[in-house]
Amino acid sequence: ERQRLSRIKNTPAVTLDGERIELLANIEQPSDTLPALAVSAVGVGLFRTEFLFMGRGKLPDEEEQYAAYCAAVEGMHGLPVTIRSVDIGADKPLNRSSRDEHLNPALGLRAIRWSLSEPAMFLTQLRAVLRAAAHGKVNLLIPMLAHLREVQQVKALLAKARTQLDARAAVYGPVRLGAMIEIPAAALALRLFLKHFDFFSIGTNDLIQYTLAIDRVDESVAHLYDPLHPAVLQLVASTIAECRAQNKPVSVCGEMAGDATMTRLLLGLGLRSFSMHPSQILAVKQQILRADTRKLRAWAQQVIESDEPAALMAN
Ligand code: PEP
Ligand code: MG
Repeated sequence: ERQRLSRIKNTPAVTLDGERIELLANIEQPSDTLPALAVSAVGVGLFRTEFLFMGRGKLPDEEEQYAAYCAAVEGMHGLPVTIRSVDIGADKPLNRSSRDEHLNPALGLRAIRWSLSEPAMFLTQLRAVLRAAAHGKVNLLIPMLAHLREVQQVKALLAKARTQLDARAAVYGPVRLGAMIEIPAAALALRLFLKHFDFFSIGTNDLIQYTLAIDRVDESVAHLYDPLHPAVLQLVASTIAECRAQNKPVSVCGEMAGDATMTRLLLGLGLRSFSMHPSQILAVKQQILRADTRKLRAWAQQVIESDEPAALMAN
């Protein structure tokens, strides 16, 4: 099967009805650009930067981060790289001892909340990202947004990071700013965010966790973690539809994007950009090559309106 899939490596990801689909890679370190390019990913849709921060004594300085981001940007040879600001907390603790500090870490100080509570740390990352953007196309993606105030704080700190770089005459480039939609509040109140961002990326892993109140790393409730729950599908569908209506690029970067059994549904809901682990790209592309989005649209609508979406998925 792997061999069969490798034959479509260089086939453009276009549906039967001519819709061009963007297939992007999720990476966790700069060297992951190699497997991404090996399957013809057209960019990095999610660079998780946590590897620079986790399990170490001290935070990475600007030079170390700059080197890592440059390595990823240069590794993609001019293709866009979406760098996510650090998502520390909950399932991604800084170090082991910080793991049990709080009763509900997934609802606590994680991702952008932690970054905004440590502005010196966040400014360091922002400067490193801005400098890396002088070497190629860089997008900056912000995780776990829920409040408009957080957007304003991020923008103020980005401006401050530029001012700091100007003060030392450092070279930096432009970045497009994106929001992860992974808290139900952000999906439900997407209008708060639409005009403030250049693009959106749906993080289904956390969106499912928070919509269903299922801890994504708790084995005892793993059987209730359901990507096809009607509430989850409704949030994913409305986010895609609202972004499209406003001409804002939207992607899915959670596991749902790399699940080939979900590809037809996401296409039917209007998704045209998928970001996933490189090992899943060809299986998803195979589904795309066989799909006709005009036919999938009505079926996808039926699926999301159904009381038992899973029963319709094989149709
Ligand atoms: C997600 O939540 O879907 C996501 C892509 O981010 P992470 O899995 O790193 O939390
Ligand atoms: Mg997430």
